[in-house]
This record gives sequence, C-alpha cells and structure tokens, in this order.
Amino acid sequence: DRVEYPVVVGEGVLDELCSYLASAPPRGAGLVPAPEVPHVLFTDTTVNALYGDRVEALLRACGLEVFRVVVPAGEASKSLATYEWAVGEMLQGGAGRKSVLFALGGGVVGDLGGFVAATYMRGIAFVQLPTTILAHDSAVGGKVGIDHPLAKNALGVFAFPRAVLYDTALLRTLPPREVRSGLAEVVKHAFLEGEEYVSFLEAEAEKIMALDPGALAEALLRGIAVKADVVSRDPYETLGIREVLNLGHTVGHALETLGGYRSLLHGEAVALGLAVESRIAERLGILAHGVRMRLEALLARFGFDLRWPEGEAYDPASVVRVMLRDKKNVRKKIRFVFLTDLGKTEFRELASEESEAHLRAVLRE
Ligand code: NAD
Ligand code: ZN
Repeated sequence: DRVEYPVVVGEGVLDELCSYLASAPPRGAGLVPAPEVPHVLFTDTTVNALYGDRVEALLRACGLEVFRVVVPAGEASKSLATYEWAVGEMLQGGAGRKSVLFALGGGVVGDLGGFVAATYMRGIAFVQLPTTILAHDSAVGGKVGIDHPLAKNALGVFAFPRAVLYDTALLRTLPPREVRSGLAEVVKHAFLEGEEYVSFLEAEAEKIMALDPGALAEALLRGIAVKADVVSRDPYETLGIREVLNLGHTVGHALETLGGYRSLLHGEAVALGLAVESRIAERLGILAHGVRMRLEALLARFGFDLRWPEGEAYDPASVVRVMLRDKKNVRKKIRFVFLTDLGKTEFRELASEESEAHLRAVLRE
C-alpha cells in the first residue's frame, strides 16, 4: 500500500489516461494493468450516461478489457446493500486480484468504489477519476467507505489510490447545486490554510462559480495541496493532525445523517456545519474577531443557505445524539475542531449538555 500517488489536474487529462497510468512515478502511476484480466469501470447512473462510453473507449484504447459496474446516483448508494450488489457484479464480471478498478464519479463513487476495491479479494488496485468539485477532497487522502443509517462513513478503511486523474473539463455538466455543494470543502480548505487562499476565493468567487477554467483549477489545486499536506503528515489519522479536516463536519455529518442522507447534500451540510461551529467558537471566546463574518459572507456568496433546516428531525437534542456516535469521540464528550483564526484551529471536547446549550443559543441568534 503506497501512501503517495500522482494527482494530475487539468482540462483534458483523461485523454492521456494510458500514458499517466504507465509512466513512472511521481508523474505517473507506474501501473501497467494486466491485459489478461478484465478491469472495472465503476461509476453511477448519471456519470455513466454522460461519460461512460467515452471513458470505456479510452480504457479499451489502452489495450484493457473492461466491464462496468453502475450504481444509482446519490448518497443512498454508499450503503451495505449497494456494496453487496457491486461485489456480486465484480464476481460475475470475472474481476480478479489483478484487476484494476477505475472509480469515475463524485465522492459517492470514489468512497464506495474505493471501498469495494480495498476489500475485494483482500484488496485490488484502484484509480480515482473524479468528476465533481467536491471530489477534489474525497478522491485524495485515502479514506474510503460507506454509511450506516445510524452514522455517516461508519464502515471504511484507509486505502490509497494508485493515481488520481482529475479532468476539469468534466465538471462543466455539473448541476449548479452540485457546484455549490463542492465549494463548501474548498471554503473549508481555505480557512484551514489561511489568508492567501481565503482572499483568493473572495476575489475570484464569481469566476469560480462560473467554472472559469483558470480560477477553478487554481481553487481546486490549492484545496488539494492543503489536504495532501495534512494527510502526508498523518496518513492514518493516528497523530491527531489529520483531524483538522473534520472542520465543519461534526455538526455537518449529524445534519446529513438526520436528513436520511437525502435532504441535504454533503457540502450543504458542511457549509452549515462550518457556520454553526464558527459561531460556537465565537461563543467560547476562542475565535479571532471578524473571521466568522468572512466565513459566512463567502459561503453566502457561493449561494449557501445558512439557515438551520426546518423540521423536528434537526432538533439540537437529536443533533447531539448523532454527534455522540462520531468516530472521534471519547468518554461521552463530543470532539470538535474549532477555528481560532485564519489558518489556526484548536480541539475541544464538550460535554453533550454543553454542546446542546451552544447549539440552542446559536439557533436563537
Ligand atoms: P456524488 O458523488 O453523489 O455526486 C453528486 C451528484 O453529481 C451525483 O448525482 C452524480 O451522479 C452527479 N455527477 C457527478 N459528476 C457529474 C458530472 N461531471 N456532471 C454531471 N453530474 C455529475 O457526491 P459528491 O458531492 O461528489 O460527494 C459526496 C460524498 O463524498 C459524500 O458521501 C461524502 O461523505 C464524501 N466525501 C468523502 C471524503 C473522503 O475523504 N473520502 C471527503 C469529502 C467527502
Ligand atoms: Zn466532507
């Protein structure tokens, strides 16, 4: 298992698929897929309709035999049921230990396909071919897995792809809601990095939303750099360094779970989580003046609705109950990562009653 792999980002990089696969690292994956076994093009229904034929043809042009495993689009596919079905498709298609799985899609395909690859016959090689803005985050960093109705990403492993080939030309077909959702993780990465990245986003927000190739590529590359830097210092999350990437996700994951993984997109939940957690940090008196305003202003410019979702499901007591199931918790306390300034964070463990009181106070603001 290699923790390092090439991440190639740009317009049209998929057209160079074969050469990136075969070239020696660090530019290429140094991966020559066996011609005698079938390989797997793993994708979802929406991406398959848009790009399945083209990518299959590209893989065949590399001399590879391929078959497709196509799961329904949407978060609901990150489930045990879809996982079991996909493994069945792999077995029926004749995938073996030398097969390579190509995960073509957003975070759902990357997380589920990566988890299938990491566990199929004790693990086969996989390549991430991300197709969403959000996937600048999910395709990098080696976390793969699926959800359980009780908790997000409850089942998963660390497994690193052999390469990430990110063709930004494919992002042009994304619906506006998915563009926005993906930008939540870009904002997260910017506030983790500091002033330079944040002011870049403030200056280029409109261009980025319009998918201007230059501005978009820079926003994504900067995000990937932040994530890759954190992950390289703590790849298996054993040192506590990697946990900073959970910014906005303690509250965000709980909201996603309470919405049954259907009501809020991942990025929408994270955007709200970023705002709410920064308000709690402000209430704790640990967040520098003005940071929360800049964060919320940027999220608003990207079009996020930062109001708490309607409905009993999102009652603060329920949010706390779900947050307590988070993997990061110890001793019945909820572990948060809070911003203290641009590029600065602090971990805090709050008792559940205290967390609930803060949430209620923030909702009244
Ligand atoms: P997604 O994979 O569901 O994609 C969003 C929607 O856009 C889907 O309907 C998909 O079919 C469609 N789509 C994808 N590419 C398209 C394209 N080019 N044109 C048109 N439509 C396209 O969701 P996502 O937002 O990419 O990912 C969210 C998931 O990522 C969540 O499950 C989240 O937990 C996970 N995630 C994982 C990590 C990690 O480190 N592993 C990090 C962040 C997020
Ligand atoms: Zn996320």
